Amino acid sequence: MKDCVLFSKLSENTVQCSACCHRCTIKDGATGICGVRKNYHGILKLLVWNKPTGVAVEPVEKKPLFHFLPGTPIFSLGTFGCNFGCLFCQNAMTSQLSKTDRWKGMYTKFLNQLKEWPPEKIVSYCTQNTISSIAFTYNEPSIFTEYTVDVMKLAKKSGIRGVFVSNGYQTKECLDYIEPYIDAFNIDLKSFRTEFYQTICNAKLQPVLDTIQRIYEMGKWMEITTLVIDGKNDSDEELTDIAKFIAQISPDIPWHLSACHPEYKMTDIRVTPKSTLQWAYEIGRQTGLHYVYLGNISNNAHAHTLCPTCKTILIERNYFDVANNSMKRGACPNCHTHIPGIWG
Ligand code: SF4
Ligand code: SF4
Repeated sequence: MKDCVLFSKLSENTVQCSACCHRCTIKDGATGICGVRKNYHGILKLLVWNKPTGVAVEPVEKKPLFHFLPGTPIFSLGTFGCNFGCLFCQNAMTSQLSKTDRWKGMYTKFLNQLKEWPPEKIVSYCTQNTISSIAFTYNEPSIFTEYTVDVMKLAKKSGIRGVFVSNGYQTKECLDYIEPYIDAFNIDLKSFRTEFYQTICNAKLQPVLDTIQRIYEMGKWMEITTLVIDGKNDSDEELTDIAKFIAQISPDIPWHLSACHPEYKMTDIRVTPKSTLQWAYEIGRQTGLHYVYLGNISNNAHAHTLCPTCKTILIERNYFDVANNSMKRGACPNCHTHIPGIWG
């Protein structure tokens, strides 16, 4: 447990958290919506500091990030809690445990049992195993921002890069706080409908759009993911709206379209048909996006990075493996078109 930085006092014992756009007002002894930031007599504390629920070394392609150090392993960690309550959450056992009254006892017990991963241990693991980046992922990292910054302050001294895989609900203060330490983002744009965010995620759409714009203006590398859900966000109009929004910021932002499987409280849907994803891909390309990728499907012809000018296959992927990378210093070897990203 550690004191939070992103909060202010409203009165002697009441605080307001400023890590995400819920901006919870939190009374003494209570936690915010995410369940991991608790008010102790007027000081907001981060309950999950040092306490990831899981750590793993994964291919960076799994985040997904396709234009960021391709083919390299990334140290990945997440914690309990989340500021969203997505009905389709694939990590609900950890992301929602801290928020469900029925599970609160289990949460406290599990939290006490978790192995500690202080910044020194994470950075030492990465340097010993030649791992060049760290991802804060699995649940929403802005709810444990202070832990991510403590890890990255140390990691930066060893030249390690930081990644946020996020739902994009950070406040401007949060983005400013992490800006020196985080090099790349994958932001979920789950829908382009206010109602979807309200009824399915317990959040709002506009703050996510604002975050995407801000990250682009900060000059950070960013890729966007949309989990395409059968009958929920897969209309031509909505997919076109998302593609247009991304394209007007920059057609060079990669858009990942992933298949959704029935999970958590959304077990009544069918797995996203491949034909839907294929159609979404066409919408993205016709809207002008240069890099559209499909994910969570087999026999995937749209996992490769193609030169947008001459169509040469630059990075060939087989699931999360990079089978071949023919790029030369961030450019197409055939026509020399610059390919945006962080290449090493
Ligand atoms: S991070 Fe948690 S406590 Fe802070 S505003 Fe968001 S949901 Fe509320
Ligand atoms: S934002 Fe991600 S981790 Fe949080 S509830 Fe939604 S799907 Fe789960």
